[in-house]
Amino acid sequence: MKPAGRLDVVPWSNDAAVRTLFDALGGSGIAARFVGGWVRDAVRGEPLTNEPDLAVDKPPETVMLALKAARIKVVPTGLKHGTVTAVIAGAPYELTTLRRDVETDGRHAVVAFTDDWLEDASRRDFTFNALYADLDGTIYDPFDGRTDLAQARVRFIGDPDLRITEDRLRILRFFRFHTWFGRAPFDAAGFEACRRNAGSLRGLSGERVRKELLRLLQAPAPADTVAAMREAAILDHWLPECDGTARLRALIAREDRPDALRRLASILAADADATTIGKRLKLSTQESLRLDVMLAADPVIDVAGGPTAWRAQIYALGGNLYADRLLLAVDVPGDWRAALAMARAWTPPELPVSGGDALKLGLKPGPKVGALIEAVERWWIDGDFAADRAACLAELERLVRAAP
Ligand code: ATP
Ligand code: MG
Repeated sequence: MKPAGRLDVVPWSNDAAVRTLFDALGGSGIAARFVGGWVRDAVRGEPLTNEPDLAVDKPPETVMLALKAARIKVVPTGLKHGTVTAVIAGAPYELTTLRRDVETDGRHAVVAFTDDWLEDASRRDFTFNALYADLDGTIYDPFDGRTDLAQARVRFIGDPDLRITEDRLRILRFFRFHTWFGRAPFDAAGFEACRRNAGSLRGLSGERVRKELLRLLQAPAPADTVAAMREAAILDHWLPECDGTARLRALIAREDRPDALRRLASILAADADATTIGKRLKLSTQESLRLDVMLAADPVIDVAGGPTAWRAQIYALGGNLYADRLLLAVDVPGDWRAALAMARAWTPPELPVSGGDALKLGLKPGPKVGALIEAVERWWIDGDFAADRAACLAELERLVRAAP
């Protein structure tokens, strides 16, 4: 594979960890090149995002030995696929041996290691994902990915149908990369192949699908892509609950920071079941619970009620979930910007009395204690959290005396 120019700016040129890594590999006769995200970032002149991927021309065992000899921590993250992860100063570097596919079934590939860079490039998905860069910024670009990147075109390497048959996840990756780096219209050959093969997506694992979908939704402006995917039946199996992008567009216009899970909630029908979706997409328990809160009919966020109402609901939901529901609510009257700012800035206080205080007043442990404390809490919230401990204790005493 011949060099195809140099980076104008080499963003890792002063990175000591990168230097350490290349010294260790080079010292053992292993050639390494960046590939994927970091090279795209560097070519576009953007700051480096995500985690670095590198391709190396020796088998993973050789790479592990070289790193260990240089006292670099190394984790065998996917030996079968040729991947090991070096950890330097806490940062991971994924090193994958050059490979070619021996067997593919649309979901998994059996790979053979090779020392042929072009062979490795040919099994990658899109032209700009087969861009490589050396430590010194020399670029290798066997499929003219730089032109496609500059023209905002996501183009499959080789025949799109064939490449999708090898690994159907590439359908979702096509849309993911289009959302980040493409511009309308879609590359027609790629889009039509995705549409034709949409039915094959059902055979994928939830984890792989989730990763691509969430990365897609995290992009600056994913709504048009989501709409196109829905029309092309790409979402039929994995997100049949998707009912359009109107709320996603409204959310994006309002949100203070992009959040893929919240954006996911915004494209789901009101009666979508968070638990079902969580299981299907292998969301974590925490993500599923958050999705559940975002999809629930209640509580309706009372923006018009002003700061007192905002504080009461922020206290009940917590600032983050409150912000989720507020941002997802459409057409709410009132100053939602101020409510959002409060959710971000205000830490709800803790109720200054507890069950122990009720016991000290002579009550026996039991449900009555809980009910009394809840009553004090309601009174404290209604008073906009102004009452201090002494005042709350006085209210508790009053309620105890008033109780029959
Ligand atoms: P990101 O910045 O989001 O990590 P990336 O391009 O680095 O983007 P990865 O998923 O980390 O994407 O994959 C690294 C590289 O491995 C890709 O650029 C591509 O060359 C190759 N690759 C990953 N998944 C596939 C796939 N399913 N089919 C073909 N090539 C793939
Ligand atoms: Mg990557």
